[in-house]
Amino acid sequence: MMSRWGIRTKLVAAIASLVLVLAIAFAVITPRRVERQGMRALNARGRSIAQMTAYSVRNLLASGDTPGVNAMVQGTRRDPDLAYVVVTDSSGSVVSHVRGVNLASDPRLLDPVSLIAHSSSEDWLGFSSDVMLDARRKGVVYLGISLADLRAEVAAASRASALSGLLLFLAGSALAFFIGTLLTRPLGRLASTAGYIAAGDLDQRAEQTSNDEVGQLVIAFNMMVDSLQHASRELAHSKQTLEARVEERTAEVQEALRQLEVAKNEAEEANRMKSDFLATMSHEVRTPMNGVLGTLSLVLASPLEEDQRRLLGLAKTSADALLVIINDILDLSKIEAGRMEIAPAPMRLRATCEESYALLAVRAKEKKLTLTFEIDERIPEWVMGDAGRLRQVLINLTGNAIKFTERGSVTLAIAVGALTDTQATLHVEVRDTGIGIDEATQARLFQKFVQADASMARRYGGTGLGLAISKNLVEMMGGSLGLKSAPGRGSVFSFDVTLPIASAPANADESVGGGAARAASAVGPRRLLVVDDNPVNLTVASAMLKNQGHLVDLARDGGEAVDKARARSYDAIFMDLQMPVMDGIAATAAIRSRPGPNTGTPIIALTANAMESDRVRSLEGGMNDHLTKPISPESLRAAIERWCPANVEA
Ligand code: ADP
Repeated sequence: MMSRWGIRTKLVAAIASLVLVLAIAFAVITPRRVERQGMRALNARGRSIAQMTAYSVRNLLASGDTPGVNAMVQGTRRDPDLAYVVVTDSSGSVVSHVRGVNLASDPRLLDPVSLIAHSSSEDWLGFSSDVMLDARRKGVVYLGISLADLRAEVAAASRASALSGLLLFLAGSALAFFIGTLLTRPLGRLASTAGYIAAGDLDQRAEQTSNDEVGQLVIAFNMMVDSLQHASRELAHSKQTLEARVEERTAEVQEALRQLEVAKNEAEEANRMKSDFLATMSHEVRTPMNGVLGTLSLVLASPLEEDQRRLLGLAKTSADALLVIINDILDLSKIEAGRMEIAPAPMRLRATCEESYALLAVRAKEKKLTLTFEIDERIPEWVMGDAGRLRQVLINLTGNAIKFTERGSVTLAIAVGALTDTQATLHVEVRDTGIGIDEATQARLFQKFVQADASMARRYGGTGLGLAISKNLVEMMGGSLGLKSAPGRGSVFSFDVTLPIASAPANADESVGGGAARAASAVGPRRLLVVDDNPVNLTVASAMLKNQGHLVDLARDGGEAVDKARARSYDAIFMDLQMPVMDGIAATAAIRSRPGPNTGTPIIALTANAMESDRVRSLEGGMNDHLTKPISPESLRAAIERWCPANVEA
């Protein structure tokens, strides 16, 4: 527990109590000593007076001179302390009896016999001395010495010593207070200086007023404050330097961030421009390609001479190849711009794989290769996936296998790995007995524009983009593309993908990949409107549709389309997206919103833009479907089957 009392209080209390004890002892002891000394003196005096008196009266008493004895005894009365004197003869009879002057009135002194019997009392001391003469006892002298004087003396001594004790106590306390003050004042000053310093005023120093321990304390204290001040200056200095450096660094970082922001904005702008450029380019290139391919298909479907058919067939093959290259470049650009999208939808897995196989069967047959299709019977019918992209990968891998195999076989094998109620893991393998790939090439094969060697490009053609795109697509589907190969011993490309199992959509035939159902349906003649600002495309599309037995009206822009749609009812409208004056989306909005016979008619977008965003844009713009140019007779037929089913007669 901490003491509540200051040093000075404690000091004063200690010294004062010590002095008090001393003073009390002094006041008690002094009167006692005075009394003891007085008693000793009185005893000596009494004894000597008794002896002297006995000596003085011995002859008078022996001779029986009573008046003489009386006179002698009367003489002792001059002593003021004498209480009484009694003289007896040898038989014990009282010869003389006097009382002291100061005690003359005391009745106890009147009877000499009782005085002899009880010589001392509280007021006097009794003495006796034998009166001797010639060694014979002649009588006895009795006398008493009064204690009154001694009492008075002791009382005075008591008073004096009490007074001096009190004075001693007061002086001692005052001295203690003074010493305490002397001792604690520098400590108090030191404490208040320490208070200032604690409050932050490091310029304060304690004043040294002595060389004693307190003085040493002050010196040590001041030294301590010196080093404290030094340290705090250093700290302030380094804090300042640090702040300056932080400010500097912050400014640098901010500048770097600003530059980074500028660079980022520039890069984003460049990227956006690149994407815009690609979208535009893809439109610009696909539109004429659409025309070329469509025209070639139409001409090839008409009666031709053998030479013409062969040449036009070559033109068609070249145009198809060009389209593949354009698509590859566009895909790669999308991947680079991070705009490649996988759009999962319910798809028929077996049908999608079969389609890919079927597309390549012709090419394999031309090269006299055995093309085998192996499929696990446990394969789920409907899964969620991007059928177009899966088909693209299968066609690329199988196409490569056919391309780089001169003899033997190519196998597309689809096995089912883990299979649960909710998902299926597919193991896809494309095996060939072709030229194979050496290890060095394998390592860099999946990079873009890489071909095994330059002579390949001349012998087999190709851009070296297909594998890079396939690898990316497989990765976006959650798998990874692997390769096992050795030169001259064929190649095996493989990947695993896990796809969620889907339930069949309400109208299964409408879905992507519903290829198996296609052959069965036969759609009767439909009245259709085709809208396109490009006359070649318009002609090609209408020719393809007329070839399929439909009645076709044409419109050259959005405005004309709206007018025609108001005039009569159509089973479906095929509408180009990008047109001058009024584009496809605006025309669709007009047809849908104004009263007329076609507010609910299916409208199918025709677009050269292969971007996913265009599909979304056209669907959001109120259109029902989306066909990417170049359009083929098959895609048109599929769209009509989807939107104008056979069982609902117009
Ligand atoms: P492209 O086939 O257009 O050249 P790819 O990216 O599809 O581009 O293929 C890149 C290269 O990989 C090919 O040029 C070829 O050298 C090699 N390659 C691909 N598949 C096979 C295969 N099945 N057998 C041998 N080599 C192949």
